[in-house]
Amino acid sequence: MDLKQTVRVIEDFPKEGISFKDITTLLQDGKALKFAIDEIIADLKDKDVDLIVGPEARGFLMGTPVAYGMEVGFIPVRKPGKLPWEVEAYEYDLEYGSNRLEIHKDAIKPGQKVAIVDDLLATGGTMEAAAKLIEKLGGEVVSMQFLIELEDLDGRAKLAKYNVNSLIKY
Ligand code: 5GP
Repeated sequence: MDLKQTVRVIEDFPKEGISFKDITTLLQDGKALKFAIDEIIADLKDKDVDLIVGPEARGFLMGTPVAYGMEVGFIPVRKPGKLPWEVEAYEYDLEYGSNRLEIHKDAIKPGQKVAIVDDLLATGGTMEAAAKLIEKLGGEVVSMQFLIELEDLDGRAKLAKYNVNSLIKY
């Protein structure tokens, strides 16, 4: 199946010069959605995964059905102030300003094998932050799964020490 065909590319969104990859058109296509989730599950099959982590917000959309299909738990990584229990936090720099992501402190037990699922790999900053949070809790990041990879931004280099898989490349 040609998944790329189901992604809508919108130029100059959310600001000029950005070529935004809109995955809502993939999500609304039932066959494409099932195919994409099944492909991720197939890639994770032999990795002995205990848990799936998904970063807010599109990581929730992709990560939860993967967790359901594998019969493992799903852990959200969220923007500051959203999680109700005690959190571990990680702050990282952006081109302008910084970003902070949080995870529940008791979400992962030391030694658990974790796969992270998100919609898109750009610079890799979001995924690296999610990995740091998992590692702070003693989890092992066994794989990083993306629907889409923007190859020019070379996020893969930043994540070189991890297993990285993506289904669609631009
Ligand atoms: P990174 O941290 O790798 O630079 O950026 C990846 C994050 O930004 C992902 O969580 C993703 O949801 C969001 N993102 C950046 N550009 C796009 C895009 O063109 N389309 C979509 N769907 N998400 C994007």
